[in-house]
Amino acid sequence: MEIRLERITDEPFYWQEKLTIPVETLNRPELDDVSEISCEGRVAAIDEGYLLEARLGYQQKLICVRCLTPFVDEVEKEVELRIVSRGPEATAGELELSEEDLTLLNVDDEILETTPIILEQLQLNIPMRALCREDCAGLCPVCGNNRNDQPCQCEEQKIDPRWEVLKDWQES
Ligand SMILES: [Zn+2]
Ligand SMILES: [Zn+2]
Repeated sequence: MEIRLERITDEPFYWQEKLTIPVETLNRPELDDVSEISCEGRVAAIDEGYLLEARLGYQQKLICVRCLTPFVDEVEKEVELRIVSRGPEATAGELELSEEDLTLLNVDDEILETTPIILEQLQLNIPMRALCREDCAGLCPVCGNNRNDQPCQCEEQKIDPRWEVLKDWQES
């Protein structure tokens, strides 16, 4: 979606869009798939530029780092961005960068494109360590079994060597 900023005066501009982004574009191995993204928001004129508020909704399929099983993560995200359009005479030094709670976005041509903003949000919503659940038991390092599905006997066979000595002693 392209939003023409100069058309926004007293009334905010409202928009809605549905977007499909190929998962390859995001280039994250832990991301297996992304559903269609629905986005709705508004852009309003404020003292120094514009304020964009939007809500994103989609599903992402992630690969669990412990058990390597894909799982679906429901994402609902609100975005708030302050937009400063650089007029021909404005220089970067004139822009006030004080509001740390908002992300500042510079727009050159009075046209705001929403796709790069949405792409960045998608990147931010991919967790550093995706887990199918907090207490995912992971794969067994010995036999490769997914311990969430069923326990395996590998751990029980791994007896502490000190007990092994004791066992020999008891048997003799
Ligand atoms: Zn897992
Ligand atoms: Zn095992």
